[in-house]
Formats: sequence, structure tokens, C-alpha cells
Amino acid sequence: MATVSDEKKKTGRASTPKKVENQLWARAAGRCEFRGCNKILYTDDLTKLKDNLSVISHIIAYEKDGPRGHETLSDLLKTDISNLMLTCKDHGKIIDSYEHVAKYSVDLLREYKKEHEDRIKILTGVLEDFKTHVLLFLAPIDGRTFNIDQSQIFHTLQPRYSSTEYPYSIDLSDICNVETKEGWPFLCQTINQKFKDIFRNGVNRKDFHHISVFALAPIPLLVYLGSLIGDINNVDLYQKHRSTDKWTWKDESEDGEIFYQISGPEEHNAAASTAIAISVSGDVAKDNIRRLLGGDCNLYEIRAANPGLDFLSSKAKQKAFSLAYRELLRDIRGVNGHFNEIHLFSASPAPVAIESGRAVMPKCDPPIKVYDFIGKDSGFVYALTINEHLKGQGGSDG
Ligand SMILES: [Zn+2]
Repeated sequence: MATVSDEKKKTGRASTPKKVENQLWARAAGRCEFRGCNKILYTDDLTKLKDNLSVISHIIAYEKDGPRGHETLSDLLKTDISNLMLTCKDHGKIIDSYEHVAKYSVDLLREYKKEHEDRIKILTGVLEDFKTHVLLFLAPIDGRTFNIDQSQIFHTLQPRYSSTEYPYSIDLSDICNVETKEGWPFLCQTINQKFKDIFRNGVNRKDFHHISVFALAPIPLLVYLGSLIGDINNVDLYQKHRSTDKWTWKDESEDGEIFYQISGPEEHNAAASTAIAISVSGDVAKDNIRRLLGGDCNLYEIRAANPGLDFLSSKAKQKAFSLAYRELLRDIRGVNGHFNEIHLFSASPAPVAIESGRAVMPKCDPPIKVYDFIGKDSGFVYALTINEHLKGQGGSDG
């Protein structure tokens, strides 16, 4: 009785061993390797039915008188992966037809194969570097709680992708009384503990390449979270844009534009308090600050070119803020020293608030007292302090 292999011997075509076939499928990522085709070979485009639509094509034919056949190599390389291409049926037919064979030389087909397999290798390798730890941060604002749509988040991340099936989450939605004097230290402790659980215990520090933060919370808590994240590299910050209701940054070309102005007192008065006002999503009323700290306080301001809820639309504006704010902190260090506290008043979207906590340097900058805005009439009230040198961690009682 004739076996399958006997049959193959008669026709000269060796069946490709399963192991080699699997290798080839993996190297080609299930796509046609003919230059420019790239067709998916496991699903029919039209009917979406799943099937093996591939042909394993020989560069040097398996028979010496076949297309690109060779006296000795045909037999030698008939199941060698270096001599096999995964193609669609059309391109398998074209490269093997006697009409076209002169056009598709051994060298050219080897080039096609290498080009395709190298590209797959690079693309799938790059993906590893595109992994990010996704952190959702939620706390009620003026008593309102929020949800974050996970599928929208994962869409926004692209080409990055989440390191975990579900994002990491610090969710304070169920904790009441957020904006009482007693509330802030408790919230800070809770955030600190959850952050530690996720990023010190949960995630191996060495594996902590990149983090993406999606946050909806009151400004003091955002600044506090920023101080915990600190100045590790590779942090992407996102906000929900009011104009689109989406988290995706606008792709604006804004080369050479100046987004922020920095101003300060004509002369720094060492005997008076020092404050920073951040006016990005709105105007911080300077009268409010002077009422709290005295008319002679040293008042520095970073001000968006046109403050408003839609100002921070692009990553470029976020980056420009980061640079301007770091420059301001450096200037203030020069005149205010490393220990004299700074009071921070901020009207800003989440990424700016987080950044204003991140940029504070634990060993160089003084403690920063962060205020909460509670309305036009009442103005600002003290909430919490970051970068307290003695305690090491925030959440002071003021
Ligand atoms: Zn093809």
C-alpha cells in the first residue's frame, strides 16, 4: 500500500514538515511575503471565514526542471525554510508560471522573503517597548463621581498597549467628605498606600518602563499623585477634553508658538511669603492670594497665552508647561532657598496639576502647600502639603 510519502516521492514534491511550516507561518506573521501584497492568509477578506489560504512556494523549485530549479540544490533545499515563502494563491501562481519565471529570480524572491520577515521581526520587537502601565485615578470633584471608559483608554494609548488586561486604578469615588480639613490627609494616606501597592509591590521596578495616567480628581490630589510619581522618565499624562469628550490629544502643529508667560515680583522679598499661581484652565485671582498671604507676598505666575477649559489641547502645550514650570522652580530656588515653603494656587487641567507635583525635586525644593479652589466668593483654602522634608510624605495637617 502506498503511503503518503511514497505518493510525494512519485510527484517529486516533498511535503513540508509541520515544524517548518509553523516556523514559516510565524516568520511571515500569516501574511503573503510577495513584495507589496501582505495579504492575510488565515481569514478571507470578503466572507471573514477562517481557513488556511496560503501556499508554500519554493524559491528554488523542488524539482531540478521546475521554476528556478537547480541540479543539486532543488533536492537539498526542498524543505529548507530559507528556500520557502508563504504566499497567497495568486502570487504563488505568478512566481511559478513559466510565463513570468524569468522576472522572479532566486535573488529577487530571497529579497522579498528577507524584507517581509525582517519587517515582522522589527514590528513585533518594537511592540515590547510600547508596553505601558495604565493608571486610572478617580476622586469626586464637588461631590460628583466619574467613570472612565476602559475601551476608550486603550484606544487612546495606541500604538502603546496596556501591560495588563485591566488598568491599575486608584479610585476614591466611595470615600466621602473629600474636601473637609480632615479629609485631605486621609485621602493622601489612601492614595499613597494604593500607589505603593501598585508600583512598589505590584510592579517590578525594573519593569517600570512607562506609565500612562488618566485622571479625574480635585487639583490638590492630582498634585499629590504627581509628587508620588515623581520624576521618573516616560510618563504620559492624559485628560478628558471637553470639546471632544475624548482622551486623545489633538495633533496640532504649533512650532515656534509661545504658550506660557512667566511673571514674578520686581524684587523678591525674603521676609514675605512666596506663591505660585498657575492660570491655565482659568484665571487665578491674585487678590484672593494676597488676602491669604499678605499684600507684600512674592507672587509668581505661569499663565497660558489664553487661559480656558480648552487651552490644553495638545501634547506640545503640556510639554511646554513642564519646561516653563521647571524653569520657574529653578528661579525661585535661587532667591527663596531650599527650605522656605511655596504656596501653590492652580486653575489647571489634570495633566498640568499632576506635572506641578511631579516636577518638584525632593531634595532641592521646599515644601509646597497646595490650595483648593472652593468658589468665586470663598476663593482658596489650604488642602495639603507635598515635599515635606521631615515627614518625607505628604498629607500634612497644615
Ligand atoms: Zn500575495
